[in-house]
Formats: sequence, structure tokens, C-alpha cells
Amino acid sequence: MGNSYQGRYCGVCEHELPHGYFSLSKRSQTVTGSEPGVVLVSDDEGLTDFCSQGCAEYAEAAISSTLSSPYPGPGQTVPCSLCLRPVDRTSPHVSVSMSEFEDASEPWLVSARVVDERELAVYCHGCAEPRLASMSFDESELGVGA
Ligand SMILES: [Zn+2]
Ligand SMILES: [Zn+2]
Repeated sequence: MGNSYQGRYCGVCEHELPHGYFSLSKRSQTVTGSEPGVVLVSDDEGLTDFCSQGCAEYAEAAISSTLSSPYPGPGQTVPCSLCLRPVDRTSPHVSVSMSEFEDASEPWLVSARVVDERELAVYCHGCAEPRLASMSFDESELGVGA
């Protein structure tokens, strides 16, 4: 039977992924409510996979060296990682994070568990346009937005 990492290769060393692996993904997301907030993800796009902590850190260092302000803090308003304009997390925005996965596939189900996740960057609308799913929510219903 398959598993979540079969046929996927490391973006750095090109080795096949092992049972535990790392993945860089780009999400369009909105944070609602007060602390700690619920994250609504309207689009999730896998960018690159990595076979090990070493390869993931290598890629992370390469990415963060191109950013003005990597690793945004947990605040509601954080600086855009590229242009430093404020990004309001309660509005849809693009976020890039590195996640560590452990395959949790069963003979009847391909799945993976998130072991750890680190946000590398957030982007303002000028730097990256968030993609909203067709079933996107109405902001006014949630009491956020304009
Ligand atoms: Zn690798
Ligand atoms: Zn920006």
C-alpha cells in the first residue's frame, strides 16, 4: 500500500523522502477570534519537500536570507517579510511555513501527522495575493473585516 511520502523527493539532496520528512507550504489564511485565534486556511499549496532536518534548515536559511523580516511573531499585526508593510492577520494573507511530518498511513488510508511547524514568512497583499477558495466565508458573519 502507499504512504504519504512515496515517490516524493527532497528538494535539496534529491533523496527519496523517509518516514519522517519536512515540507514547505504556502497558505492563504485568515486568523479569527482572540488569542490564540483560529486559523482559516483557504488555500494550501505544497512547495517543496525535504528528507531531513539538515536539508530543511539549508532551504530555510536560503529563503530567510532573501527576506527583510523572516519569522513573523505571533502578534495580530506583523511586518510583511518582504516590504515590511504591516500585515493584519485577521485579513486574508499569504503565509509560508516549514512543517515536519511523520507518516501515519494505515493500510486503508494515506495520511501524515504534523509533528512541528514554523512560520517563515508572511506577505502583504502587494507582495503576494491570497487565494480565496470558492467556498470562502463571509467576513461580516465572523464579526471581523470591514
Ligand atoms: Zn535531503
Ligand atoms: Zn509586502
